[in-house]
Formats: sequence, C-alpha cells, structure tokens
Amino acid sequence: MSIPVLMYHHILPKDGFICSSVENFTKQMKFLSDNGFYTLSSEEFYMYKKGSFKAPKKSVFITFDDGWRDNIIYAYPILKKLGLKATIFLVTDWIDKASEKKEKFNPLYHSDCKKSIPINPNSVIMNWDDIHKSQDVFDFHSHTASHRDFYFKERSWQEDLYNSKKSIKKQLGYEDKHLCWPRGNFDNKLVKQALEVGYEILYTIKRGTNLPDNNLLHVNRLAIKKDEKWLRKNIAIFSNNIIGSLYAKIKPQ
Ligand SMILES: [Zn+2]
Repeated sequence: MSIPVLMYHHILPKDGFICSSVENFTKQMKFLSDNGFYTLSSEEFYMYKKGSFKAPKKSVFITFDDGWRDNIIYAYPILKKLGLKATIFLVTDWIDKASEKKEKFNPLYHSDCKKSIPINPNSVIMNWDDIHKSQDVFDFHSHTASHRDFYFKERSWQEDLYNSKKSIKKQLGYEDKHLCWPRGNFDNKLVKQALEVGYEILYTIKRGTNLPDNNLLHVNRLAIKKDEKWLRKNIAIFSNNIIGSLYAKIKPQ
C-alpha cells in the first residue's frame, strides 16, 4: 500500500490559485469522513514511513503549507467537526511577525496574501496563539524561517533550517523532525544540511507514492484541486503502489 499525502495551501470562500473553496474542501473532507478514511498525525506518518506504524488500509495524510490564517478560520472548524487531523508547515519568521500585533483577518488570494505579509502580517498569517489553540486538529512543523522570500531579513540556508527548528522548540516544546522544502526546491547538499540540523523527514511537491520503505528524504505530495470526485480518483491512484508510481512518471506535478 501507499499513503497519499494531500497538499493544500489556502481555503477561502471561492476557488483560486493554490486555493480550495470552502465548499470543495468541505465536500472533500466529508468524502474522507463518510468513506472511513483515517487521517494520520505527523508522528504516525513518520512511523509509517519507518515501517513501525501499521496504518489502516484507507489512510491519507493531510498537509497545508505556509501557515495562512484562512486555514484557522475556514479549515479548522471543518476538520474538527469531522474528527479529521492535518499538519501545517510553518514559515516561522512570518508567524513571529504575525504574532507581534493583532490585525483584522483579510480573506485574500495567494498573490495578494504574499503582498500583505510584510505590511499586515496577521491579516493573512496565523499567529502563535492560533497555533497553540488549534493543536487538537493540527500538528505543526517547519517550512523554514523565511521561505527564501526574505520579507523581513536575509537568511542563510543554515539559519533558515536552524531558526525554524529553534522557534518550534521554543513555542511548541519539541525537536522538529519534519521539514517541508519551500516551493519544493532542494538539492543533495541541502538534504545533507537539513539532516545535520536534525530534520529526519523531508517533504517535496512531487506527486508519487509513499511506501513504508524507510526512505524519509523524499515524501511525495499531491497538490489538491477541484472537488471530491477529483480527490476520490487521485486517492485511488496514489494509494496503489504500481498505478501511483506509473501515474507520477506521466504527470510529475
Ligand atoms: Zn510554501
């Protein structure tokens, strides 16, 4: 078996670029819940990859990238109501800035969100308070300190890897093992650096299967689009070792 890892960014009232509408997201989550899918915690997924967690046959691992506040406003209540779990990869410099001053939530699409980060960070980015309060549904892990965007300060790769780990330790109290590469960009040298900093499991934006094969360095993820029919079809493809790996060769992203 293979476990599909779902990758979301924004949840907003209407669909958009890397954004699922509340309606489509609700239908997708209801599809998972109504059909008896188990949603893994990040620790369970890590143990599954290492071969020491026997995941139920129908399992998925839900992830969100960046730490957008819309995840708290729109995704959290839906997941909580349905009893589903998900993981959010945080850009910790953005979260730190969003935690300095409370601002009114602004439901913007991705490109406008990115423009708002340096000006009104908390209007679009969740703060540490949101993070502490939503741990009954979400697990939180590292997406580096700066996302390599440098809205607030320049960061070396070493700082980016180390500082996000340090922030998570300070705010959430654990040594983070999970790192998601910004924009899916990495090379062998960065993988080596990430391992030296203490990350153990690394997430890409490449489609593909995820087997309990102890290869923790290239977790494949599926960028989620459209509605529950699209999700149903893609979960069927990427739960199957053979079909999933063939399909990923034809459509890698
Ligand atoms: Zn990102």
